[in-house]
Amino acid sequence: MITVKNVTKKYGKFKAVDNISFEINDGEIIGLLGPNGAGKSTTMNILTGFIEPTEGEVIINGYNISKKPKKAKKCIGYMPEGVPLYKDMTVKEFVTYMAELKGVKKEQIKESVDQAIQDTWLQNVRKVLIRNLSKGYKQRVSMAGALVGNPEIIILDEPFNGIDKSSIQQIKDYLLKIKSDKIILIASHIESDISDLCDEIIEMDLGKIN
Ligand code: ADP
Ligand code: MG
Repeated sequence: MITVKNVTKKYGKFKAVDNISFEINDGEIIGLLGPNGAGKSTTMNILTGFIEPTEGEVIINGYNISKKPKKAKKCIGYMPEGVPLYKDMTVKEFVTYMAELKGVKKEQIKESVDQAIQDTWLQNVRKVLIRNLSKGYKQRVSMAGALVGNPEIIILDEPFNGIDKSSIQQIKDYLLKIKSDKIILIASHIESDISDLCDEIIEMDLGKIN
């Protein structure tokens, strides 16, 4: 379960996120919908412990992300906005690296990596350098990095940007298949990309939830 309580993020006097609160239960796919600049990515960076809120708190499966970041982060697979870094790694090297960062047990790494690569349809490009992949494939690599190790909470920031329609459908079908024992939070600025997938949509604009 994710609990967000009165979270605000200020940059100087500007509130990128303005006193938002919500809860997400296991088994739900939730959309975070809003135009560019609404505060979606900032919210996701706070939920995943990459930035500290100015005020408020975030509880991930009972762990406060500010006080128990290691335990909270272990539950989360995060696909940040944009394409993955580490362009000089192959797909397999990157996903392995993400598995190691997440603390997947050594003896489980190979199987976890193979599974994530299979789930994101990357088998054919396992050994290709990320820099040589198309935008859509790079997005899949980023998603594989989020899925590796089978995290309970999956947070995806604009995952469908730059991906063709049939790939979007493939990914949606996969998320629906795995959703029952997970929490999946997806940010998008395009309602039609997520409306059929999500159990609920949280609308955000100017840092606030409507
Ligand atoms: P979204 O993901 O919904 O497009 P963001 O969370 O990226 O929105 O940004 C929300 C607002 O916060 C924007 O106006 C953005 O310019 C501002 N912002 C984001 N990060 C910073 C930062 N590091 N410093 C100053 N302003 C920022
Ligand atoms: Mg964003």
